[in-house]
Order: sequence, then structure tokens, then C-alpha cells
Amino acid sequence: MIELSACVGLGANLGDTRAVLSAAYAQLQQLPGTCRHRCSPWFCSAPVDAGGPDYLNAVACFDTTLSPQALLEALQAIEHGHGRERPYRNAPRTLDLDLLLYGQQQIETPTLTVPHPRMHERAFVLLPLAALLPDAVIPGRGPVSTLMASVAGQSVWRAD
Ligand code: ADP
Ligand code: MG
Repeated sequence: MIELSACVGLGANLGDTRAVLSAAYAQLQQLPGTCRHRCSPWFCSAPVDAGGPDYLNAVACFDTTLSPQALLEALQAIEHGHGRERPYRNAPRTLDLDLLLYGQQQIETPTLTVPHPRMHERAFVLLPLAALLPDAVIPGRGPVSTLMASVAGQSVWRAD
């Protein structure tokens, strides 16, 4: 089976965000049908169009034989495990895992759009992605290095 390189965005802004992100990345590393995992440095970002604490963000990438849909379901299962700790309905997200890239494929189904439809306009995605894969290209959008210029005004900074 052909292995493709997948990129996943990780975000958390509730509870012990460092512990949540560390645990989530460990869970990604344990997913069957995945190998050669790497994770970007961690970044902080102010919430976009929402209140609440700052987010901790990262991007992980790995090779996988999982289908895009199977990978999405695996991500949602990890989210769900952490989501049980949400203190009230519609609370800020304990953990958000987005499938950003799946090789250079463009996918459009009722449950999955890849590349993630908003990743190209989010500095909290582009900065960690560029740190991990400086030559990454977002299909239909262009090189990450070029897209970064348009998000320069957003509040994102390296975590200590
Ligand atoms: P966001 O991450 O943009 O704030 P959510 O995490 O709340 O949004 O969105 C979850 C929904 O988005 C899921 O129901 C899922 O089916 C759908 N979705 C579509 N494309 C993707 C993708 N590439 N990654 C993750 N979820 C996606
Ligand atoms: Mg999401």
C-alpha cells in the first residue's frame, strides 16, 4: 500500500494545554498505519473570532497508509477522548485536530475537505507548518512561504 504524507493541525486552549498537546501527539504516533512522525515547534495564538484563553498550536506530519476518511475518524476519536473533559457545552476546545494535508490530494466529501479549507488564512497553522516543512505547498493555494505574508498581522508567537 502506498504511504502518503499527512499533516495534522493540533490546537488546545483549555486546561493543561501542554499536557493535552503532548498526549495528542503521542496518540498520533501510536496510530496504526503511520510512521516517520514529526512535530513542529509549539506556537501560541490569540483566539480568532472568539473569546477564551490563548491557544497552543502545533503541526504534526507523518507517513500513513490510512485512508483520509479513516484518518479523520481516528483524529475525531482522539478529540473525543479529550473532549470528555469539556466543562460545559460549547466551551473552548480542549483539543482540535484538523487534517490539513494528505499528500497533494484535494478531497471534497460531505465530512472532509482537504486541504483544510481555512488553513491558508490561519497564521497558527502556517507558522508551525512552515517551521516543519518550509517547502510545503498547499494544493490550490500555493507555497506556504508565500501564504505567510498575508497572515503577518495575526497574533502568533513561539511558545517558551
Ligand atoms: P474547525 O477546526 O475549523 O474549527 P471543527 O473542528 O469544529 O472546525 O470542525 C469539525 C468538522 O469539520 C467535522 O465534522 C469534520 O467532518 C469537518 N471537516 C471537514 N474537513 C475537515 C478536515 N480537513 N479536518 C478536520 N475536520 C474536517
Ligand atoms: Mg477541527
